[in-house]
Amino acid sequence: MLVYPSWKASPCVFASSKSGLRPNLASEGVVRAPLQTFTEEEIMLKNMVKKFAQERVAPLVQKMDENSKLEESVIKGLFEQGLMSIELGEEYGGTGASFFSTILAVEELSKVDPSVALLCELQNTLTNKLFTIHGSEEQKRTYLPRVAKDTIGSFCLSEAGSGSDAFSLKTRAEKKGDYYIINGSKMWISFAEHAGVFFVMANTDPALGYKGITCFVVDRNTEGLQVGKKENKLGIRATSTCTVTFENVKVPETNVLGQIGQGYKYAIGTLNSGRIGIAAQMLGLAQGCFDHTIPYTKERFQFGKRVFDFQGMQHQIAHVATQLEAARLLTYNAARLLEAGRPFRKEASMAKYYAAEVATLTTSKCMEWMGGVGFTKDYPIEKYYRDCKIGTIYEGTSNIQLSTIAKSLAEEY
Ligand SMILES: Cc1cc2nc3c(=O)[nH]c(=O)nc-3n(C[C@H](O)[C@H](O)[C@H](O)COP(=O)(O)OP(=O)(O)OC[C@H]3O[C@@H](n4cnc5c(N)ncnc54)[C@H](O)[C@@H]3O)c2cc1C
Repeated sequence: MLVYPSWKASPCVFASSKSGLRPNLASEGVVRAPLQTFTEEEIMLKNMVKKFAQERVAPLVQKMDENSKLEESVIKGLFEQGLMSIELGEEYGGTGASFFSTILAVEELSKVDPSVALLCELQNTLTNKLFTIHGSEEQKRTYLPRVAKDTIGSFCLSEAGSGSDAFSLKTRAEKKGDYYIINGSKMWISFAEHAGVFFVMANTDPALGYKGITCFVVDRNTEGLQVGKKENKLGIRATSTCTVTFENVKVPETNVLGQIGQGYKYAIGTLNSGRIGIAAQMLGLAQGCFDHTIPYTKERFQFGKRVFDFQGMQHQIAHVATQLEAARLLTYNAARLLEAGRPFRKEASMAKYYAAEVATLTTSKCMEWMGGVGFTKDYPIEKYYRDCKIGTIYEGTSNIQLSTIAKSLAEEY
């Protein structure tokens, strides 16, 4: 019997609510649902994640930040709640929900801890997507039940010499009979500390330039694969970010993901959708920070008034709230475009770029609005302030997002 996590509607409940997918459509094509209209299933998931984050993550956030380590109970909880396999088919142990559900889950988790949200985000938008879209039937049968149950995936693209210019990577994979030998070194690999499986971008034919880049699936226990030191970071400290080296790592050709020389396309494709996930992470982070701060401004008295009641404060708060709403709409719209099978590259970059800017502004303003206490570790604001910076760096820096947006504009005009 299939066991559904508590938030997942059973198929018959979902089927009976099919018309609820667009509840506000008075008649087809006349009245369109606002972007913030959720299906019954999305609402259930959002509520479940909120509860999970408050009950099982929130009490551990400070400890995980201080120790630079995710608690095992949190990782286990993400798997148990189906949050590491949101879109995977039920046949693989997943919950078969929508991409938008992943976005909502990441947003809700980020309100409490952006580090925990990153694990959910990367597993769903990179690891699971790479297997489902490009994996062979055998790879799907082998890995999808594992990534749904207890195995974390890591995405190994960046190297010391190739970040924004990712496809100038130096890691090589040389064919020897029906095996490949991988040599090279990757940097900045998220969750490498815990990962059981690695997607490794390596060049099989450097003469072809980026068209030689091929994606390999490499198990953690493969001889020659070594996870190196963990970076000591400003923010999202509970996530591990490590070097991963490959010294004569021998993998059978059946470990090639998809086609030889197509790795760059797979990386671009998954990063495009992943950027919507990072936008959701930044959005949730900013909202979580805002939600902690506003009640304080209504309790804190100066000059005989609540600080919230000064017009100078209210205008700033309204300004930030408006930008938060704009970031939310950009993010949700990009997610709905992807789900609808429509072009979304430009919108994904806009959402990520803008949400990272808004998170930077929100956390900075919240700290000012809290006064001195916002600067201390007695309140979570300083952590949100540290955590948000990564949004302008990974899965393409803000400059790279702007270049992507400009590329689309150049094609449009
Ligand atoms: C915490 C963390 C987690 C990460 N996780 C992963 C992971 O799991 N897997 C992975 O493969 N990578 C990961 N990365 C790597 C990340 O994607 C890169 O750091 C990022 O792409 C930027 O590359 P870089 O650090 O080499 O910066 P550089 O590319 O050296 O950029 C330096 C500056 O130059 C600017 N710049 C570069 N090129 C251009 C250009 N053409 N136009 C304008 N400006 C430009 C950049 O915007 C930036 O401001 C992670 C990084 C961090 C910090």
